[in-house]
Amino acid sequence: MAHQKHNNHQVKAKKFLGQHFLEDESIAEAIADSLTLNGYKNVLEIGPGMGVLTKYLLKKPITTYVIEIDRDSVEYLQNNYLNLAPRIIEQDFLKYDLSTTFSEEPLAIIGNFPYNISTQIVFKTLELRDQIPEFSGMFQKEVAQRICSKEGSKVYGILSVLTQAFYDAEYLFTVPPTVFNPPPRVESGVLRLIRKADYSLPCDEKLFFRVVKQAFQQRRKTMRNSLKTMELSDSLKANPIFDKRPEQISVAQFLELTSLIENDK
Ligand code: SAH
Repeated sequence: MAHQKHNNHQVKAKKFLGQHFLEDESIAEAIADSLTLNGYKNVLEIGPGMGVLTKYLLKKPITTYVIEIDRDSVEYLQNNYLNLAPRIIEQDFLKYDLSTTFSEEPLAIIGNFPYNISTQIVFKTLELRDQIPEFSGMFQKEVAQRICSKEGSKVYGILSVLTQAFYDAEYLFTVPPTVFNPPPRVESGVLRLIRKADYSLPCDEKLFFRVVKQAFQQRRKTMRNSLKTMELSDSLKANPIFDKRPEQISVAQFLELTSLIENDK
């Protein structure tokens, strides 16, 4: 006779999947409540694990989907959240084509994210921004702060500029390691991104990404130094923005600068 698996064994945390299960219900609820529910009817939770956040999403007037790479977690969810079963996607979020499930429909993204792929999750979201009006959830505190920080801050960098070109970013609250099992080594931070009403760029997107990345590759150097290989005209380089270091340059100024570079002859 086939051995019948027990239904609700707790999932044993796997380090290589970045599994740190949240055990504080009020924090899970607060993360779910960070959604504004404006401008979408679907929410996709990345990495639901055993569903601590999912159960609060399921109470909302919105359709909840989850995407989870871990077989054990998927099985746990199938057994414990019967209504969710048809909307569990057992896939790697980074490789998954969202249009398979959502076609062109807008969706919000939420999660207590796997921290080992947090930057890649943000970059994928930026790529798919036409479909993602809102994004909220938990990262390592430092990453959450970086995404939300403004020029002049020590953690202001590539992620801050690229994200804030398309989204208004708000750091919501800090979460201590003690509320997770197993506890991560660092504090966590919850943020929310709301796509700007007009999120079209005034300049070429590829060039903008290139300028920002090249500028921050050596954050102590002036823009004149960092952008040397772009062979810009002397008249353009006379612009005082080239005397600045990247961390002093706002998102709007990066966009402006990219336009100037684009039109430099
Ligand atoms: N949300 C749960 C689990 C957080 S841990 C909680 O708060 O308790 C991060 C979760 O992301 C794990 O369940 C892990 O299996 C899942 N995960 C890791 N990499 C993933 C990927 N590439 N795609 C989808 N899920 C992933």
